[in-house]
Amino acid sequence: MNYTKSIALFEEAKKYIPGGVNSPVRAFKSVGGTPLFIERGEGSRIFDADKNEYIEYVGSWGPHLFGHNPKFIIDALKSALENGTSFGAPTELEIKMAKIITELVPSIEKIRMVNSGTEATMSAIRAARGFTNRNKFIKFEGCYHGHADYFLIKAGSGALTFGVPTSPGVTAANAADTLVADYNYINSVKTLIHENKNEIAAIIIEPIAGNMGVVPASKEFLAELRDICTEEEIVLIFDEVMSGFRVAKGGAQEVYGIKPDMTTFGKIIGGGLPVGAFGGRKDIMDTLAPVGPVYQAGTLSGNPLAMSAGIAALTHIKENKNLYNILEEKSQYLEDGIKENMKKFNKSFAMNRVGSMSCLFFTDKKVDNFPSALTSDAPLYGKYFHKMLENGVYLAPSQFEAMFISTAHSKEDLDKTIEANYLSLRELL
Ligand SMILES: *Cc1c(COP(=O)(O)O)cnc(C)c1O
Repeated sequence: MNYTKSIALFEEAKKYIPGGVNSPVRAFKSVGGTPLFIERGEGSRIFDADKNEYIEYVGSWGPHLFGHNPKFIIDALKSALENGTSFGAPTELEIKMAKIITELVPSIEKIRMVNSGTEATMSAIRAARGFTNRNKFIKFEGCYHGHADYFLIKAGSGALTFGVPTSPGVTAANAADTLVADYNYINSVKTLIHENKNEIAAIIIEPIAGNMGVVPASKEFLAELRDICTEEEIVLIFDEVMSGFRVAKGGAQEVYGIKPDMTTFGKIIGGGLPVGAFGGRKDIMDTLAPVGPVYQAGTLSGNPLAMSAGIAALTHIKENKNLYNILEEKSQYLEDGIKENMKKFNKSFAMNRVGSMSCLFFTDKKVDNFPSALTSDAPLYGKYFHKMLENGVYLAPSQFEAMFISTAHSKEDLDKTIEANYLSLRELL
């Protein structure tokens, strides 16, 4: 493949944009090489500045459940555009959006729209703190909840019971209220609660973690979290920015049959536009201004363009009863193909999958939390990534990201991908 134009564009971009990108993982730092500049997407394919074509599995990091440029979303956007892009005043579209989410996800009694997943999670934490009058919250190592200060915290080592910042610019004061537990290991949660009795406002978790590769929580673990939160009057927040409308129409909470107190959304609910949302129990949501005292706002929140794209996506989900079965079939087919290939090379790398989100970890260990995810051979993944690219398949440029299948991926696409996987593994193993 020829990447001449992408290489030139990257050099140009670096002059004006830090690292040439508007979000760090796009820069290919963890796999090496130059990021591809994308010109166009269509269904399961993307086309770069050098006119190379790829079957792709990033889907803009999750939003594109139906592939790129589905006609029904583009049509909805075109007709919304005729009436104006934003008014900063209520519109009927916002009611439509709120209604359809509350229908699809029964735990949501009230919901508020924002512009990104980051805004959704930070607002949910603020609401939970306001509601409980407590300051601390628990998150899990390896889960990602956007880039608000108090989420960029990892577990302290040794004698430290509080977290430490993972980024300069995040203060120790911020870290002091963030407690970090071990994903899927309930005792780590119990210990933190015991040590911080009546001080914990919320527990926030990706019920299917998708930001350390794909690591599903066990059902027992989530059920225990639910019970502990009820007992201790802690707000249980499911961060379904990725898993919401990805693994089922009701998200991970439908798959597991567990009802959180609050849920955050993003990605798919925007139909490809910048949207996030947080919602849940009425009594908690009504602590928000203007009903209650907890401040939260947004100039472009709920704007008609974003709402129209989101409504189109969610309506499609609501009306296509078979959608998640089709995604499951496609995903199972790809998983089987990749596993068959590994057998041919006597390898049994961990492949985690829930519906159309999956991850091939380059490790023989079972991956069920962050430390086990880290046993993966990330440099080998980097080589695999580039081999796949040469074979016409664009994967996430990091071992610790999810692979997404869309309804636009055809059997032919999947067969080509399985073949590319075979050829890549053959060269590497
Ligand atoms: C992507 C993601 C976020 C952050 O969303 P942004 O729109 O990138 O701010 C938060 N939580 C989870 C689980 C995510 O996958």
